[in-house]
Amino acid sequence: MSSLRWRGGMSVRFVNTTGVVLDTIWLRLWGNGEDGCAAPAVRVTRLSGGTAGDPAVGCTALPVRLAHPLRPGQPALVRFDLHIAVPDRDARFGHNGPYYLLGHALPVLAVHDGKGWHLDPYSTGGESNYSLTADWTVRLDHPRALAIPATGSAVAMPARPGRTLTTIAAKRVRDFAFAAGPFGKREALTRHGVLVRLWFADDVSAAEVDDTLAGAVEYMDTFAGWFGRYPYPEVDLVSSHFDWGSMEYPTYVVTYPARTAVAHELAHQWWYGLVGNDQYADPWLDETIAEYAKQRATGDENPLCAGPFWPSPDAKVTSGMDYFNANGGYSLVVYLLGSCLMHDLERTMGPDRWLAFLRDYATAHRYGVSTPVAFRAEAQAASPVDLAPVFHRWRAS
Ligand SMILES: [Zn+2]
Repeated sequence: MSSLRWRGGMSVRFVNTTGVVLDTIWLRLWGNGEDGCAAPAVRVTRLSGGTAGDPAVGCTALPVRLAHPLRPGQPALVRFDLHIAVPDRDARFGHNGPYYLLGHALPVLAVHDGKGWHLDPYSTGGESNYSLTADWTVRLDHPRALAIPATGSAVAMPARPGRTLTTIAAKRVRDFAFAAGPFGKREALTRHGVLVRLWFADDVSAAEVDDTLAGAVEYMDTFAGWFGRYPYPEVDLVSSHFDWGSMEYPTYVVTYPARTAVAHELAHQWWYGLVGNDQYADPWLDETIAEYAKQRATGDENPLCAGPFWPSPDAKVTSGMDYFNANGGYSLVVYLLGSCLMHDLERTMGPDRWLAFLRDYATAHRYGVSTPVAFRAEAQAASPVDLAPVFHRWRAS
């Protein structure tokens, strides 16, 4: 079998929080990002509660004309059948042998804010995801031999002969990802009582399992100390020697079995997971802090901070994915030079005041959305010295 197929139904209940009357909403089918309309991996059929229009943005966006115009504050329900064919590639949505990763496989609602609908294109090299928090209940009927790591907390029950019904609940998360395969599993508790579940493929050695789990427990406690309490009961790590890298999702990460990757992805549990951002327009808001936190937690040096190298005169830490997709330089500018901005802010404000700011900021914006304006203004309000030269130095003003 070259791909694993899932089919089922999805109900989306939502309230119109936009402040304007909506006659249409948009679903984002990010799973179609790589192959587009030529081979859509995620398909929606038999929609009720509205009428599906023509797919747009490379089949990653589906308009739904609602049955009735929806006034501000009113709830609505849209239902549809969902067909998922996991692509035959080693990727965050794809598989490596019997290990299937279903990141971006389930549709999410597009965001409508003061700028209107956010219908940005998919980004292979980074993320375009921008979504709001929601409560998810996911029921998966699957062969008993498959382990199912997932966002949220799962309960598995025997189903028909040879099959298992796994029910997963996840509250106040901005996306839902899962995996399926013959993963091994180890668990540990953090000092703060968070259950850490490590699911590993058979290419992960026993020593790597021990080190990845120990690192995950350590970093979850470290980051809770720096950024505030982690409010979810568990975090799941899916580990293998992925060729393509690592990836963050709410309460769930897919990670190479190395401490630096584990620390970076777990820092995203606060920056992207809890405190959301428009990852297409402002990728720096989560990536610079995740990378900085990784360096701070692991002692990983960033030599670029001492002698910055910019790939072009117009590259900025605060550029969007549109710029980086056209010009390159995403990892160098956002991760490496961006993390220098965070180190510089820490040095300028002093470590105690800086971490107190990050903690207060994460608490104030948890389950919500961070913006460049809010980040700069609230950092400045917490700082006794002018931060404008620091943001300017790192091209983030
Ligand atoms: Zn990252």
